[in-house]
Amino acid sequence: MGKVRVRFAPSPTGALHIGGVRTCLYNYLFARQNGGELVFRIEDTDSSRFVPGAEEYIKESLEWLGIKFDEGVSYGGNYGPYRQSERRDIYRRYVKQLLDSGHAYIAFDTAAELEAKRNEIKNFQYDASTRMQMRNSLTLPADEVKKMVDSGEKYVVRALIEPNQEIIVHDIIRGDVHVNSSIIDDKVLYKSADDLPTYHLANIVDDHLMEITHVIRGEEWLPSAPLHVLLYQFFGWEDTMPRFAHLSLLLKPDGNGKLSKRDGDRLGFPVFPLEWHDPKTGDKSSGYRESGYLPEAVINFLALLGWNPGNDQELMTMDDLINLFRLDKCSKAGAKFDYEKGKWFNKEYIQKADERLLAEMMIKDAKEAGVEADLAKAIQVVHYMKSRVSLVRELWPLCTFFWVAPETFNEKDVAKRWKPETHGMMTELRSKVAEWQDYSDLEGFEAYVKEWCAEKEYGLGNVMNPFRLMLVGELKGPAMFELTSILGREETLRRMDYALSQLS
Ligand code: GLU
Repeated sequence: MGKVRVRFAPSPTGALHIGGVRTCLYNYLFARQNGGELVFRIEDTDSSRFVPGAEEYIKESLEWLGIKFDEGVSYGGNYGPYRQSERRDIYRRYVKQLLDSGHAYIAFDTAAELEAKRNEIKNFQYDASTRMQMRNSLTLPADEVKKMVDSGEKYVVRALIEPNQEIIVHDIIRGDVHVNSSIIDDKVLYKSADDLPTYHLANIVDDHLMEITHVIRGEEWLPSAPLHVLLYQFFGWEDTMPRFAHLSLLLKPDGNGKLSKRDGDRLGFPVFPLEWHDPKTGDKSSGYRESGYLPEAVINFLALLGWNPGNDQELMTMDDLINLFRLDKCSKAGAKFDYEKGKWFNKEYIQKADERLLAEMMIKDAKEAGVEADLAKAIQVVHYMKSRVSLVRELWPLCTFFWVAPETFNEKDVAKRWKPETHGMMTELRSKVAEWQDYSDLEGFEAYVKEWCAEKEYGLGNVMNPFRLMLVGELKGPAMFELTSILGREETLRRMDYALSQLS
């Protein structure tokens, strides 16, 4: 076999579902590990389902995730154009070839006529059993067909499927899938109304012309595969037919059935990589990026939905995945979408992430909340606080107090920790810590305060808890002297003074 060439071929009908991202990822891993190429093709022949912005959204999502294409829409290459709506001339030739060879025919039946047939015949299917009752080039005289076509009457071109033939789809994941051709209807391959082929024809013509060697796609396309195999036969392209691999579905986290956007809404997790604003409905759907996920975590999590390396290794970089991934080891059974596991991955990746990058993300959230947070301090804060979050977006709410001094003090904490003698002790502590200069010397400062406690015979808890309460407003935050090192001398004293004026 020559060079491996695979493609990701979404239709721009809306946001890219997380299952589509996994499909693209598996294509990418397979291409990379075989030194092959990944093509980005846009399948936009169904103009009625076209959604503006969807193509850009898909591209931006995959870029964010670090999935790189070698050629295709907006990347260029020798097999273009890669947007199907720009390939009309090419498809026209192949439609003609099928008509000339008798593997397809022209049909004029209107929507109303088809509807009438459906009412007349139970389980109507346009196929060998019914096609001779319809208005098509098999039943009408040739000169009449020509006249109708020439006069601009709308028609479609249908595949002529011979009944009772065995079709075998060789699938890398599922093995040989046998299908009887009688269950397939004479699928529409081309519509004169918009001078475009349907998905089936465009898909296989392009896979052939773009020299695609492996078709890795979602299970929902398995029912189309027998027709695709037949089309390869019709064209005489059996020798270069790509190998198929139909990936199992992503399933609901709870219960059965395919993961849907509604599950995400219901259980509170995104099903799209990026936030999506539906231009038709105006609805806004959350995305992994905006919810505070790191792309590396999303990749790692998705890779393991439907495949595993055969041991219990879980944390894998893109390079690890490229080495370890095996298409033939993908599971046939659907994979439950374990959202909590996704969060776990993200937490792991946050601990490994560049602190400056995390700080920059937190600064953005601060800005949205109207606070200008400076980078140096944000990096310090992230360093001490990152172990407490699963999502980057949790950082700002957790860390706001580093920038915004408390104005009020948690009543419960005060009731518990602010005793009659506390005000006096804290006033003493205030003058004691004012004498200390180097707040960045965490250990030195801590030893200094503890020594004073020992000297005074003050219990550590009786000092540290109110001390924290004064600086944070409640009993939370990092270790005490990490806290003071970030706040610095001036701010620590300022907060103490304010607290002493408020708490008696
Ligand atoms: N355009 C199809 C989709 O939206 C592609 C199916 C395939 O990969 O053959 O998923």
